[in-house]
Amino acid sequence: MKIVVLDGYTENPGDLSWDALSRLGELTVYDRTAPEDTFERVNGAQIVLTNKTVLNAQLIDAASSLRYIGVLATGYNVVDVCRAKQKGIIVTNVPTYGTTAVAQHVFAMLLEICHHVAHHNDAVQQGRWTSCQDFCFWDYPLIELSGKTMGIIGFGRIGRAVAKIAEAFGMRVLAYDPCQTGPEMRKLDEVLRLSDVISLHCPLLDSTQRIINEEALSKMKPTAILINTSRGALIDDEALCMALKTHRIQAALLDVISTEPIPANHPLLGLENCLITPHIAWAPKESRQRLMDVAVSNVQAFLAGKPINQIKQ
Ligand code: NAD
Repeated sequence: MKIVVLDGYTENPGDLSWDALSRLGELTVYDRTAPEDTFERVNGAQIVLTNKTVLNAQLIDAASSLRYIGVLATGYNVVDVCRAKQKGIIVTNVPTYGTTAVAQHVFAMLLEICHHVAHHNDAVQQGRWTSCQDFCFWDYPLIELSGKTMGIIGFGRIGRAVAKIAEAFGMRVLAYDPCQTGPEMRKLDEVLRLSDVISLHCPLLDSTQRIINEEALSKMKPTAILINTSRGALIDDEALCMALKTHRIQAALLDVISTEPIPANHPLLGLENCLITPHIAWAPKESRQRLMDVAVSNVQAFLAGKPINQIKQ
C-alpha cells in the first residue's frame, strides 16, 4: 500500500515522527507540493494525505489508484469531496485536535494588546527602566479584562473553549450562533453592539463570508477589540483597514488573512492597532501531535474497513 503525504512540513517540521504512519504502508513524505507536481506524486498511491495541497475533481478523476484522502486539518475545502465520493474514495479529516491551542492563542493575542509585554520588555532591555524617574512606566493604556464583555461569533468547540477562559478572567460572555442554544445566546447585532472583545469562531461558509463588513464594524464600540483565529475571509479587509485607521474600533488581532501567506502590499500590514500572527493558533507541538495521532488512527481505521472521521457530503 503506497502512502503519500503531499505537504507534511507544517505538521511536522522535524519535531514529530512519521514512524507510526510508515508502519502502515510504503510511505513518502513531501514537505510541500506545487500544483504542477501533484498528479505525479499522487499517481500510483492508494492513500494520500494533504494539508493545503488542492485535490480537485480533475486530479481525483486522473488518479486511478487513489482509495483514501486524509486531510491533515479540520477544514477540508482543499478536496473536492463530492467527486471523491462519486469515485468511491474515502475522505477523512481531523475534527478536534486544535480546540485548546486555538482558544489559548486568542488570549495570547488579547493579553498582548492588554499589556504590550513584548514592547515593555524591549523598552527595559534598551535601558528605559534604568533611566526612569519613577519606579514604573508604561507606554500604552493597560487594559483589565475582568468585567468586560466577550462576544463570541460561532459557539462551537473553540468558541466554547474561549468562553471558559474568558469567564476565568471575570468576563461576561455573549454569543451568536444560529445553531446553538444557551443563556449566552444573543442576536448578532447585540453581540456586535455590547461586546468589548469580539472573537470569531464560525466556519467559512457562504453565510459567514465577510460577516464582519463595514456595517458590522459600524455597530461595534469604538473601544472594541476584534479577534479572528478562524478564517480570513470572515472579514472584509478593506472595511477593517478603514475602521482601524479611523479608530472606529480600537484594535484587530488576526491569526488568519483572506490570502495566505499575506501579500506584501496587504492593507492591514503596518497598522499599529492591528496585530497579525502567521496562522499559528493550531501549531503548538502538543496540538500537532494530536493531529498526527488522529491522522494515523484514521488511516488504520480505513485499512481495517471501518473508516472514522469520514466526511460525508
Ligand atoms: P465547530 O464546528 O465546533 O463550531 C463552529 C460553530 O459555528 C458551530 O457551532 C456552528 O453552528 C457555528 N456557525 C455556523 N454558521 C454560523 C453563522 N452563520 N454565524 C455564527 N456561527 C455559525 O468548529 P470549531 O472546532 O469550533 O472551529 C471553528 C473554526 O476555527 C473552524 O471552522 C476553522 O476555520 C477555525 N480554526 C482555525 C485554526 C487556526 O489555526 N487558526 C485551527 C483550527 C480551526
